[in-house]
Amino acid sequence: MSVRVRYAPSPTGLQHIGGVRTALFNYFFARAMGGAFILRIEDTDRERYDPRALQDIYDTFDWLGISWDEGPRAGGRFGPYFQSERTELYRQYAEELVESGQGYYCFCTSERLEKLRESQAAKGQGYDRHCRDIPPEEARARRAKGEACVVRLKIPLEGSTSFYDHLIGTIERANRDINPDPVLLKSDGFPTYHLANVIDDHFMEITHILRAQEWIPSGPLHILLYDAFGWKPPEYCHLPMVMGEDGQKLSKRHGSTSLVEFRSGGYLPEAIINYVSLLGWSYDDSRQMFSKADLEKLFTLEKLNKAAAVFDYKKLEWFNGVYIRERSDGALQAELMPFLQRAGIAGTPASAEEEKLLFDALPIIKERLRFLTDAPEMVRFLFKDVPAYTAEELLPKKMGAEETAKILTEVKSLMFPADGKNFFDKTDEENEAAFRALAERLGTKLGSVLGPLRVAVTGSRVSPPLFESIRLVGKDKTAARIEAALRLLA
Ligand code: GLU
Ligand code: ZN
Repeated sequence: MSVRVRYAPSPTGLQHIGGVRTALFNYFFARAMGGAFILRIEDTDRERYDPRALQDIYDTFDWLGISWDEGPRAGGRFGPYFQSERTELYRQYAEELVESGQGYYCFCTSERLEKLRESQAAKGQGYDRHCRDIPPEEARARRAKGEACVVRLKIPLEGSTSFYDHLIGTIERANRDINPDPVLLKSDGFPTYHLANVIDDHFMEITHILRAQEWIPSGPLHILLYDAFGWKPPEYCHLPMVMGEDGQKLSKRHGSTSLVEFRSGGYLPEAIINYVSLLGWSYDDSRQMFSKADLEKLFTLEKLNKAAAVFDYKKLEWFNGVYIRERSDGALQAELMPFLQRAGIAGTPASAEEEKLLFDALPIIKERLRFLTDAPEMVRFLFKDVPAYTAEELLPKKMGAEETAKILTEVKSLMFPADGKNFFDKTDEENEAAFRALAERLGTKLGSVLGPLRVAVTGSRVSPPLFESIRLVGKDKTAARIEAALRLLA
């Protein structure tokens, strides 16, 4: 029997780290086992449905380069893959449960249920099984007359229900502790999560359920549903929790959690895939670099960890830097250009000159990038005028304006002599030797000579390597920027 797994998001919010981890583990498990990965959209909660959330599912996985074998856009022989298009099936099976006496119609009004909740609030007991024992003929008659009703599952009053979880082992629950008679079909004819989820996993021939541990409490209830239908449940593997550094479940309080935020925050998909795959899974004690292709071969359930995983933003940042440096210049340039455009540094579309300038700047910024978003400020001085700076910023430590102007004037004549080789005709070694000699002649340090020059050319005391930066800025602009600095000092 070949493996069939699914990721079953509800389109109610943005894809976040937890969901993406679930999707990736299902995807890698399917690939490694030569099975199928299915995307199913659990969109039966019409109140919380948000079309932007559906688009976000597509965007997120397109960006990550993760595709599904069956599902929306892909099709497949077990479709439709939107639960909202399968309501007839759920209705039919809910009726079947009523027919076999394992489910029943509940006619309680929302007012009654509301009161019940209030009166029981302290006890938290849930539904009181008020309609469980209405004689079936009576219930059918009331329903036929058009009385609004839901279908509930009869949870056995005694005994217990258990299932085996790959990671955790046997999970057993006394039936009396299970949510008393959960709703399966709502009065609007839409199923609840439990009914639709179980029916689809059965008919889509899902073999393994890999999902977050927050779904464990639903496990016994689902087992009871499989039993009621006479179906064999899939195998279960509830994935380790993902926590923030403080041991609380990862949430917005800890930092970005949605994938759009990571994407606009300048992370590369390779870094996300690599890091997220290590949240609760490890190959061995030492290896930590894994490409998508590696994980498609190496992923196994046996290597899942029981312990909760801690989401470490610094570690992800580290991975991001590694993958930025691993990108070819061409690929990195393509990733970076949109960030320059958004920052208003390059045009949309970018001109050929801008493309070339960014490409040429890569060698001096690549090493320093932690995020793609770092790039615009690093290269701004190449694309635009130098950002405004104050005269104070030009001054080396313990030096006044006059002295600095004198140094900068010397620097200028050294770089652009009336005759002889200028800065751009010399090698970096020759230039460095010349600046050192100048510093010595002026009785100051090399830093005091290069500092004002750096601010003049780049507008900042921190910049990419100075000589390379000057070469990219070019002769005329460099000379003009030194002039401008001298005017400011005067
Ligand atoms: N629709 C559920 C969710 O949003 C699916 C849970 C499951 O995998 O069973 O996570
Ligand atoms: Zn009722």
